[in-house]
Amino acid sequence: MKKDGHTHTEYCPHGTIEDVEVCIQKAIQLGFTSYSLTEHAPLPKEFIATCGGQLSIIEECAMAAHDLDHYFAKGQKLQKKYASEIQIELGFELDYLPGFESYTRDLLAEYHPLISDGLLSVHFLPGVDGIRCIDLSAADYQAGIVAHYGSFQAAQKVYYQTILASIEADLGPYKPKRYGHLSLCQKFQHAFDEETSFHPDSQQLIQKSLHRIAASHAELDLNTAGLFKPDCLEIYPSEWIRQQAAQLTIPTVYGSDTHALADVGRGYQEARPYLVAH
Ligand code: ZN
Ligand code: FE
Repeated sequence: MKKDGHTHTEYCPHGTIEDVEVCIQKAIQLGFTSYSLTEHAPLPKEFIATCGGQLSIIEECAMAAHDLDHYFAKGQKLQKKYASEIQIELGFELDYLPGFESYTRDLLAEYHPLISDGLLSVHFLPGVDGIRCIDLSAADYQAGIVAHYGSFQAAQKVYYQTILASIEADLGPYKPKRYGHLSLCQKFQHAFDEETSFHPDSQQLIQKSLHRIAASHAELDLNTAGLFKPDCLEIYPSEWIRQQAAQLTIPTVYGSDTHALADVGRGYQEARPYLVAH
């Protein structure tokens, strides 16, 4: 089985995919036998109202609520059309939004009959002028997040506190069982002229998180997008986390995090040594 467990579609406002069907055809050509459509679940309006930075960019972080039914209809159509060639899974990359747990539970409860896979990710942290998206650009991460906490490692610690909270969060019976790109806080690491390695405080939070993940039989997204980001140049999660996770035999699932046709299948060979099966 060759699976891509983390991909986006034309319903992602910040990607360049025109029709996910072409991505699926490419995945079939590359020998994938399973392909999960995991579009960013819509953000509640009340959440966007708490955000700082450029709001037009925050609004582009996730699928629009009015696209939900179109997204699932398209996914179901493709599931049937390609059933003999590839198994298409359908679901969300959900954001962990502290304070909006009931919104998330309700969304999952409404769509769970159509959902067969998915991830839970942290893309937002409190920062300058409100909640900020942490993976826009190095300059935005510096101005909106690192400046707010005082150092790269101080921001990193808050990211891992939030990861732990996401693992412990009660998102109901349909909570995704895979955690997305568990070192997204390192995306711009090489752009910073200061210490960016895992601080002992972060290491402790990571250990605790991994033990919780192992105990709940959850999985990690082995996400190759970071390999191709010039300020990151590594797979998410970072090597040290992968080593700790391997000791706990936490299953990992390759994720291309495809946002463009060219992304389909990328980094699979690099990720392969770190694939841990169930
Ligand atoms: Zn995206
Ligand atoms: Fe993500």
